[in-house]
Amino acid sequence: MVPLLDLTRQFEAHADEFNQAALQVLASGAYILGSHVDDFEAQAARSLGVRHAIGVANGTDALQIALQCLGIGPGDEVITTPFSFFSTAEVISRVGATPIFADIEPDTFNIDVASIESKITPRTKAIIPVHLFGHPAAMPEIVGLAREHNLQVLEDTAQAWGASLEMNGAPARCGSLGQMSAFSFYPTKNLGACGDAGLIATNDDALAESARALRVHGSRRRYYHEEIGYNSRLDALQAAILSIKLGYVDGWNNQRREHARLYNELLSASPFVLPCERAGTRHVYHQYTIRVRQGRREEVSRRLREAGIGSAVFYPMPLHLQEVYKNLGYQEGDFPVAESACREVLSLPMFPELKPDEIEQVARVLKSCQA
Ligand SMILES: *Cc1c(COP(=O)(O)O)cnc(C)c1O
Repeated sequence: MVPLLDLTRQFEAHADEFNQAALQVLASGAYILGSHVDDFEAQAARSLGVRHAIGVANGTDALQIALQCLGIGPGDEVITTPFSFFSTAEVISRVGATPIFADIEPDTFNIDVASIESKITPRTKAIIPVHLFGHPAAMPEIVGLAREHNLQVLEDTAQAWGASLEMNGAPARCGSLGQMSAFSFYPTKNLGACGDAGLIATNDDALAESARALRVHGSRRRYYHEEIGYNSRLDALQAAILSIKLGYVDGWNNQRREHARLYNELLSASPFVLPCERAGTRHVYHQYTIRVRQGRREEVSRRLREAGIGSAVFYPMPLHLQEVYKNLGYQEGDFPVAESACREVLSLPMFPELKPDEIEQVARVLKSCQA
């Protein structure tokens, strides 16, 4: 049996540390925000190289609160990718703006800059690039385009803690490059809590202050409210667990990269299209996602399943064709690259504690699928 993901291996490897931290929070009597959250925020900001990190209840709230801080609302258009988890578009609708989709690059699965440019109108206010599967989006080009058209950039960094790319000749962390960024620490993410958790990052003092107020019902002083906000506070327990994991996550990302290298080597002669890593970027392989040509995917995933190997399709349905977005008027064929990705992608087992012989088993089954 090779699971797609096994969170228990990570817990077991550090059980004493996690148990101790959890018991300490339980004994402290302080369960929401407080010093554990302050400490985690400071640690996260330092690690990302940003001035402010604001803990919130989950990644979806992080995106939505950030959009509200950026002043996005009714009448505004926000350009994003149709090949992402639903939240990325959902939050645009939630603040009353309109999601405008742009197609993706076939190799990185990330939003395509030329397609973004073709969608800009006088109503466009922001771009939400997603660093999908842990591969950095084309930030130098996206930030350049945004500057040219006076647009805001909100990075959806939910799948890319630790990813980086070259900006102006120096390495820069994903999540430090737009006006704001949003992280999710949903347990299956490459930096995951033991429940729901999220984070907003920014270098802008005023935006940070606004996010801090919005997460507590739009309040800057307790029981005094200047705007309609959210109940989106981070729990001390999640912050304490995340603080421990922050010390390990770079090593875990390196292990993911090692696993990707082994998959690449073992599958180099296979008929599958393997993940790419653009020059100048550091992919953190939140997912290791291959393409299985047209119509073969079901068979390949069945063969893996029969061999006791997990796999998954992220994502089977592009956002522009979702039932709830019928009213936006998109049709099949509007974003052919995203639509073909939805038909062809297959994510293989990937987590730091995966063993080389497990990767060999996966590769063996995949190679027997050829023909
Ligand atoms: C997980 C995820 C989110 C949402 O995060 P939650 O913590 O589940 O709310 C948003 N965007 C992307 C790309 C994600 O993968």
